[in-house]
Amino acid sequence: MALCRICKEKKIITKADVYLKHYRLPLCKKHFKEWFLKRLKGTIEKFDMFKESVAVGVSGGMDSMTLWQALTELGYKVYGIHINLGIPGASEKAYEKVSKFAEEKGLDLHVVNLKDEVGATLPEIVKLRKRPACAVCGQIKRALLNKYAKRFNVEAVATGHHLDDEAATLLANILTWNLPLLKRKHPVLPSRDGFVKKVKPLVRFTKADIKAWVDLEGIDYVKGECPLSTGASLKKWTALLEEIEKAFPQTKFKFLFQYWEIIQPIFREHLEIPEDEFKIVPCKYCGEPAVIYNEDEEPICTICKLRELVNQSLEVSSN
Ligand code: AMP
Ligand code: ZN
Ligand code: ZN
Repeated sequence: MALCRICKEKKIITKADVYLKHYRLPLCKKHFKEWFLKRLKGTIEKFDMFKESVAVGVSGGMDSMTLWQALTELGYKVYGIHINLGIPGASEKAYEKVSKFAEEKGLDLHVVNLKDEVGATLPEIVKLRKRPACAVCGQIKRALLNKYAKRFNVEAVATGHHLDDEAATLLANILTWNLPLLKRKHPVLPSRDGFVKKVKPLVRFTKADIKAWVDLEGIDYVKGECPLSTGASLKKWTALLEEIEKAFPQTKFKFLFQYWEIIQPIFREHLEIPEDEFKIVPCKYCGEPAVIYNEDEEPICTICKLRELVNQSLEVSSN
């Protein structure tokens, strides 16, 4: 392994602990952490994500665990929110890793049990809803993260999406001309109608950068796919983008960041897309945002709708 570049500049000879391929940068552990934290803070400030307080959705995977720890080390007031989805064989393990990590590093953790919120686990809900598991799960996570982020009165809710995730979805959205998503997709979604601001502070880090953080910190994280996962398509887009990156290094960065800097502003100004015909109003039961498509529709949020569905199915089965 090469010598740490920054130590070398200071005329100190230190073996590098990590080689950041994308930047051709060998660093020792201390200077890697400094580099990572500075880049993270720079991203938060560049995109004006939040100033003091943030909630982080923590799944137990390497991205969100890294984000949770790094934001805490930067001195922000960080609330970790872990949603226990009740997936047999997976959710118990995720909960164990998240809670052990919180204890080891002194991180703030709040656990939300889906079963307590709606009366059923994710696999049970998926059966009732008859929709792909990932779509149902995404909807539930968005709703619960929003609800609890508001309780903590934070400026924003953050997720662990990184550069590779965002560049792969951008590639997919461009090659299929998904114009509404192209117009909307950004590291910051402002707050509106009861939805808290959403941010992705890891957008300037590759998966390899995050892997270097978890390896050097010795973080025990959840590996492998979710057992309910049906969404293989993002994986294919990611692999295609990696092929392009191999042939033309640095493409991923330019593709994503120049999209946000140059192309998206033009789209936003000139691309007329009829607004979706829906309204966001407070849920009649709990006050969380509910989406309605016409004035006669009852305003009921995602979580309250699921609770109703679960209760109805229990009534049917007990009759
Ligand atoms: P995914 O949709 O599983 O790729 O997750 C994207 C992001 O959502 C993660 O980086 C986390 O920030 C957040 N997230 C995923 N699962 C959970 C969970 N069970 N509890 C809290 N946040 C989660
Ligand atoms: Zn060094
Ligand atoms: Zn509700």
